Amino acid sequence: MGRRRSKGTMFKVNSVTGCWDWLGYVNPDGYGKLNRKGESQLAHRAIYEAFKRKIPDGMHTDHVCRNRRCVNPDHIEIVTNLENVHRGKRCKLTKEKVGYIRFLHENGCSRQAIAALYDVTPENISAITTGKTWKGVNYGRKSGSIGAG
Ligand SMILES: [Zn+2]
Repeated sequence: MGRRRSKGTMFKVNSVTGCWDWLGYVNPDGYGKLNRKGESQLAHRAIYEAFKRKIPDGMHTDHVCRNRRCVNPDHIEIVTNLENVHRGKRCKLTKEKVGYIRFLHENGCSRQAIAALYDVTPENISAITTGKTWKGVNYGRKSGSIGAG
């Protein structure tokens, strides 16, 4: 054991998605792992518990950003196993989709309607429109790809 790692090197913040990408060991399922008190733990669960609260027994975690390597506690939701299986079927959002989601929301579409359109949960939409996830992604107002007409 040579140099000590500082806490800041455990993860890297993605300025686009707001994700905290785990820099340590990642298991074959794509989840970050860490060792605490000699025990191997899932990094996002350990960090969620450190920042937020204890995850109740039997409950599972779901990444609202769909990035398994992400350890941002704000991107983690506690769900029942059934919900997690159901949600896992959904496809990953892209920058383009996120831009349109914000556009639709700002133009009065309800979260439920947008969620149905993109086959994600209203919570996903809420996380996007409040800037919890995909911070800084907009629908190209500046570049003019969607004009005011
Ligand atoms: Zn994330």
